[in-house]
Amino acid sequence: MNGLMMDLPLLISSIAQHAERFHGNREIVSVTGDNPLHRTSWGEVISRARRLANALQRCGLKQGDRVATMAWNDHRHLEIYYGVSGAGFVCHTVNPRLFAEQIIYIINHAEDRWLFIDAMFVPLLEGISSQLASLEGVVIMTDEAHMPKCSLDNAHCYETLINAQSSDFDWPAIDENAASALCYTSGTTGDPKGVLYSHRSTVLHAYAGVAPDVLNLSARDSVLPVVPLFHVNAWGVPYSAAISGAKLVLPGPKMADGEALYNLMQDEDVSISLGVPTVWLALLQYTEKAGKRLEKLQRTVIGGAAVPRMMIEAFRDRHGVEVRQGWGMTEMSPLGTVNTPKPGMETMTPEQQLDLGVKAGRGIYGCELRIVDDEGHELPWDGKAYGALQVRGAWVCSDYFKLDGGAGAHTVDGWFDTGDVAIIDGEGYVTITDRTKDVIKSGGEWISSIELENVIMGHPAVAEAAVIGVAHPKWSERPLLVVVRAEGEEVTEAELVSYFDGKVASWWVPQDVVFVDELPHTATGKVKKVELRRQFVDFKLSD
Ligand code: ADP
Repeated sequence: MNGLMMDLPLLISSIAQHAERFHGNREIVSVTGDNPLHRTSWGEVISRARRLANALQRCGLKQGDRVATMAWNDHRHLEIYYGVSGAGFVCHTVNPRLFAEQIIYIINHAEDRWLFIDAMFVPLLEGISSQLASLEGVVIMTDEAHMPKCSLDNAHCYETLINAQSSDFDWPAIDENAASALCYTSGTTGDPKGVLYSHRSTVLHAYAGVAPDVLNLSARDSVLPVVPLFHVNAWGVPYSAAISGAKLVLPGPKMADGEALYNLMQDEDVSISLGVPTVWLALLQYTEKAGKRLEKLQRTVIGGAAVPRMMIEAFRDRHGVEVRQGWGMTEMSPLGTVNTPKPGMETMTPEQQLDLGVKAGRGIYGCELRIVDDEGHELPWDGKAYGALQVRGAWVCSDYFKLDGGAGAHTVDGWFDTGDVAIIDGEGYVTITDRTKDVIKSGGEWISSIELENVIMGHPAVAEAAVIGVAHPKWSERPLLVVVRAEGEEVTEAELVSYFDGKVASWWVPQDVVFVDELPHTATGKVKKVELRRQFVDFKLSD
């Protein structure tokens, strides 16, 4: 016997309708390429998204056709999110910081028909447009006054395009399982792979994001996503914020500018901000130097890479800001775990709180987790056993776009293998010890590069650090510590090595230390270990 409840499709357009009706006046503030501080509202954004939907329909796009974006976080990008997906097309966010060859590959693989682009990326596109076979037209996301001179075929001005359209548009009743958005992994090994989100997965993920122990978003919040709209839907914030009616503060091209972020947080009463660790390093360095305190910010959600202990400590002790570490990936929309305390943990000492805080967090409802050994047997959640972390759930990918199972990322019993190695404790808190490919294998045992990095990031003379495995004749691999010194700090190799004493097992302590001016980063701000390993492939370890 079925229940007698309505069966309405979970559509992104329903989020748009909700935001417009209930939170129409709630502000959206953006830094854009053509305006240092643009103010609009959820009502206006959704109304303009309907104009855009009309424009796209006039271009002859069919349901499921891909429309690409190459842009920073601002209100126009948000309008495209809702206009494209809401009308039944697929919003393909392209990361403009990828190499040109990767961008060409991604756009051709996705067969994007139209591309919306920030004016500042036009020269990049001009350099590659002859190789983009599927592209029929380009829309430059600015007004007539700021249109750049360009040699692109069929290029239009965003404001002119949408202002010529009516804001009357009926969002189509599409299947909730229809594709809504597309995002490619950064492809550190092999070609980038496309993750194709559906309306249903996006809505369920956005619901989960709002919850108190996840992002905890409400109509009273002002949210600054420093996670880009061009990568994994900015962790679902554009949707979760619309559901809750939170104010959005979008930093445009100022994503890595500590001072600009600080000023936005203070001036726009930002209560929560989200980003990868490197972004927060820039902000913390700025506040330290300028002698400033984050007075408005209440919490940050940090994920995408392990969060160093000193970062959690600096936010807590210097700024009174709660850090919630999160873990996830493009293939998971991305939320998988978030670190918030359970009852009883409020009595923990400050040190115990940090011990908990450096973990990736506990599973959120909707995303199941398990760790398995090499034979696929499930391992206990005892805080000791480590194995391959696998997930399944309504917002986890079931395959990659046009790969038809070829990636081999799923198990026969239907779980997705994340490529991460993890430990899970008795309370369900996950610790990511490594990427499978980054783990250091020494004398048949595994050394966690992440744990070593976390320790050394606590040294005041270290600005950034990475640990990689380097070939060793006896132990097969030994850890090499690569360090960027903090400005004006002097520190020796021996001092850094002895800093590990008593903090990790003695055989984990890095064999050698190399000082560099900077570490290579991926387009999403993570340390590019593949490149580091390449750089140090012939490194001769000392005895
Ligand atoms: P890509 O850089 O390939 O596009 P994602 O942005 O999807 O990838 O990153 C996902 C990966 O980032 C995870 O599989 C994991 O290795 C790493 N990661 C994310 N959050 C954390 C965390 N809190 N601690 C450690 N690693 C993390």
